[in-house]
Amino acid sequence: MNEDRRRTTADREEEIRREIRERTEYAADGSASLIVARSAGFCFGVKRAVDTVYEQVKTGQGPICTFGPIIHNEEVVRDLEEKGVRVIRDETELTSVTEGTVIIRSHGVPMYIYEMLREKGLTVVDATCPFVKKIHRYVHEYSQNGYDIVIIGSASHPEVEGIRGWCLRPPVVVATEEEAEAVPRGTDRPLCIVSQTTFNLKKFYKLVEIIASLRYDKPVVLNTICNATEERQTEARSIAELADAMIVIGGRHSSNTQKLTEICKKECNNTFFIQTFDDLNPSLLPSRGCVGITAGASTPNNLIEEVSKQCRKIILNRC
Ligand code: SF4
Repeated sequence: MNEDRRRTTADREEEIRREIRERTEYAADGSASLIVARSAGFCFGVKRAVDTVYEQVKTGQGPICTFGPIIHNEEVVRDLEEKGVRVIRDETELTSVTEGTVIIRSHGVPMYIYEMLREKGLTVVDATCPFVKKIHRYVHEYSQNGYDIVIIGSASHPEVEGIRGWCLRPPVVVATEEEAEAVPRGTDRPLCIVSQTTFNLKKFYKLVEIIASLRYDKPVVLNTICNATEERQTEARSIAELADAMIVIGGRHSSNTQKLTEICKKECNNTFFIQTFDDLNPSLLPSRGCVGITAGASTPNNLIEEVSKQCRKIILNRC
């Protein structure tokens, strides 16, 4: 990380800590406190994608389908299914769609999926998050200019599958230090490194450091972790440092929620990953001390509000 970036990050961390102090709610006798993260819940890209589907339900040319579940949240997906929105799980299922509208979710898809949709004459509504689209453009342009691409992220995550599909040669996907050490030391082609938008920032720089130290040439490093993720992770880490118990709300399959849990667990042993308030055993929450709440990018507001409301009752004795 260069010096300017390090300073900006430190300033922002301090600002987040100040905001957390201001947001802390206390019990009347001051023995317990609750902090609900400001960044908990839908990020810009997820909100945009979900709003797009609801809008298409009203005005789009049916039948309406989404390519993959629009977000990793079972409740939202169920609600949309009840409104007639079908989820297409993969390309094989796509072959059976002959009419209507296909919405591409915020994770994005490989280039060839757009071609398939065009050939089938379907209406395409693209809700790929603009930050993800930017990565598609980067890897496409860099591979066109002769670079090999390394994607730092989880190989099986749909966003990474999408990014992979914009590289002109097969990229290397790296998620661990062992995988970083196995990146080829040098070929005829220079190297460009990008990241999945929801990857852990510290881990990203660690893996970049390993890859760079093993290379004969200096790779181009594009930190494509989106600000929403960085802010959410920084805030979650800062709250977990203060908390005696930490609650992370999110879908079972949400990768960014799993990463948040991982980050919180490092700072606070008492971290609980729940989908709804029903998954939480209230007797495990401390009767004194501080409880923190955060949530992944695909967690609807009503779920966060419900958990916060119940925790206010239990911890702060407030209705
Ligand atoms: S986490 Fe960032 S990149 Fe991903 S959908 Fe949200 S705003 Fe877009």
